[in-house]
Amino acid sequence: MSSTARPTTWLVTGANRGIGLELVRQLLASPSNLVVAACRTPAKATALEDLKKTAKGTLHIVQLDVSDFDNIRALPAQLEPILGTTGLDYLVSNAAIFVQDTPFTLDPEGLLSLVRTNVAGPALLAQVALPFLSAAPTKKVLHISSTAGSIASVVQMPPAYAANASYPISKAALNMLVYKQKVERPDLTVIALCPGWVQTDMGGSGASLTPEKSVSGIIKVITTATSEDSGKFLRYDGESVPW
Ligand code: NDP
Repeated sequence: MSSTARPTTWLVTGANRGIGLELVRQLLASPSNLVVAACRTPAKATALEDLKKTAKGTLHIVQLDVSDFDNIRALPAQLEPILGTTGLDYLVSNAAIFVQDTPFTLDPEGLLSLVRTNVAGPALLAQVALPFLSAAPTKKVLHISSTAGSIASVVQMPPAYAANASYPISKAALNMLVYKQKVERPDLTVIALCPGWVQTDMGGSGASLTPEKSVSGIIKVITTATSEDSGKFLRYDGESVPW
């Protein structure tokens, strides 16, 4: 990229491992991408730091705990020196937590914790990112969701999977957030995206997809999405997921 060309700018949460790390890795293969990689503890994000050695694009690492609302509200001060004149093209809200539980045994505090991290944090993050998104031409918000939050999909799952409660509840709420954000801001393209079942700490080693394959699909889906796709629930391969 020439020094005067405007980069395509990305903010990815939960960027230190799993799908978030792979997203940052693949985005940095392009010299035109500037990636702001957010993680809870940058000092321990060695895999992320290592990407700088091979990156063709530009990497900035910022500290962000999406369950800490004060931390999210303070994020613009970290973003301003990086994105101030350029704005933010893509917000990728990826960080999330999982717990194995069931509807009649769940710990209500645990449920609140999942809703805090998986829904309220992403909602507030989109609010604080709005001025940066508004300043850029692309204006895309991607919420990494899950078919676990799709009632139409869960009814087809084996009972053992279908029993899990707090995580699917949080992702179903996230899906509604996507729709509400799309309705309120037609100038944005807001998408809920299921990455598939991916080999990460959350997905486990028996998962069907490598992070490489899932993420190459995710990048294709979000870069080719148009405003017509806003409010949709899509899979990493571009297929629609029923709500
Ligand atoms: P991992 O558990 O492998 O990684 C989760 C990431 O989220 C880590 O970087 C973790 O950081 C971060 N994170 C968790 N809590 C917070 C927080 N409070 N603040 C900031 N970062 C946080 O998960 P995946 O990579 O597999 O999942 C990524 C996304 O994909 C999630 O939204 C998940 O729900 C979704 N998904 C995953 C599937 C799969 O099969 N893997 C299937 C369907 C959806 P830290 O290291 O600090 O904990």
